[in-house]
Order: sequence, then C-alpha cells, then structure tokens
Amino acid sequence: MKIILIGPPGAGKGTQAKRMIDRLGVPQISTGDMFRAAVKEGTPMGLKAKEYMDKGVLVPDDVVIGVVEERFGKPDCAGGFVLDGFPRTQEQARALDGILDKMGTTLDHVVVIEVPDDYLVNRLTGRRTCRGCNYMHHIEYDPPKKEGVCDKCGGELYQRDDDKEETIRQRLKTYHAQTSPLITYYSGKGIVRTIDGTGSMEQVQKAIRDAIGA
Ligand code: AMP
Repeated sequence: MKIILIGPPGAGKGTQAKRMIDRLGVPQISTGDMFRAAVKEGTPMGLKAKEYMDKGVLVPDDVVIGVVEERFGKPDCAGGFVLDGFPRTQEQARALDGILDKMGTTLDHVVVIEVPDDYLVNRLTGRRTCRGCNYMHHIEYDPPKKEGVCDKCGGELYQRDDDKEETIRQRLKTYHAQTSPLITYYSGKGIVRTIDGTGSMEQVQKAIRDAIGA
C-alpha cells in the first residue's frame, strides 16, 4: 500500500499516519519528523532546515528531495509506505514520480485531509508539547491536570516555535500557495480521496480506512 497524506499543518497527518502504519505494516515517512530529528542532533542539514522551519516556510526542494531519496533507498520502503508531509511542491511530486518509476511502482491513494484555516489556528496555538516524551496536550481540548506539566511523564510543556500564531498563518499561506495545487496534480491520476478532518481522531481514521478500503 503506497499512500500520501496531504493536508494543512495541524490537520492530523502525523497522528493518522502513525495509526495507519501499525495496521498496514508499512513505514511512515515524515519529512517534518526527519528534519526535527536532524535539528535535535545538530547536523549541518538540520541547522539549515531549522532556519526555514522557524519561519514557517518550506525547506528548499533540493534538500528535501535528497533526504527523501536516501530514505527510499532503505529496504523497508519496498513493500509500501505512508508519506506524511511530502511531497509539498510540484517539483517534489515530480521527484517522487521519478523515484517510484525507478522502483517500478505507482501510488495507490492520495488522501487529502481537509480542515478550515480558523479551526487549525485554534487547534495549533493551543498545543503544548512535552519536552520529555513529545506528548501533545491542548490547553482547551486536552488540558494537563497541572498547568505546564505533562500528565504522561511529568515533563515540562512548551509551545513549539512553529505553533505560534504568526508562524501558523505563514504555514497556512505556504500550504495554500505551494502544496494544495498538488491535489489537482494527482486528481488527473484518479487517486485522490478527500476526507473531512474536523472530526475526532477516531472519526477521521475511520473515514480514511473507508476511503482506501483497508
Ligand atoms: P511538518 O511537521 O510536516 O509540518 O513540517 C514542519 C516543517 O518542516 C515545515 O513547516 C517545513 O518548514 C519543513 N518541511 C517538512 N516537510 C517538508 C517538505 N516536504 N518540503 C519542504 N519543507 C518541509
């Protein structure tokens, strides 16, 4: 099963991808997670990516495509994958076509998770991430018992730089300008399935399962 998840920041792509991979038995490939890991390790690529991530704009295509090509070289991708956060531009989509061509395969589904902008701003600005275990609380929908402290592990909660309102508005602008045109790109191939992403995590997961028939 070869699937791409497309959706604005905060639509729940990462959460849904994590649930899907357990069921489908394929790896999740998240460029955002790969960049965050590189930032944490302080690699030269991570330091370069951080400049863009903090501003809410896209990391340049050549950097992203290099990272993804390397990832696709690993044997676990051969049986399928859930791509989350890639491709985000036409150039990345064309590069992915090239990679899949070389592997002698094609995509099965492009799942588009739709959520209105205002809903996302509220969802993302309220997010508080744990420094210890990365669990995400929400000040309104999933508040911690004690302010600033993670319920799961007692770690300190903080607001990610890219979850601040100004950055979120910029990330949404970037999404509408550069990534949502990919929906038209893939529509021509007849593999786009559009899902309402405003429901609960379970409702969205069920909608995805129904749409991909798995
Ligand atoms: P995400 O967690 O997927 O929202 O990614 C966080 C940030 O990493 C984005 O705002 C971008 O700056 C960068 N990023 C992740 N994936 C890509 C991509 N495919 N192309 C360009 N930049 C990316």
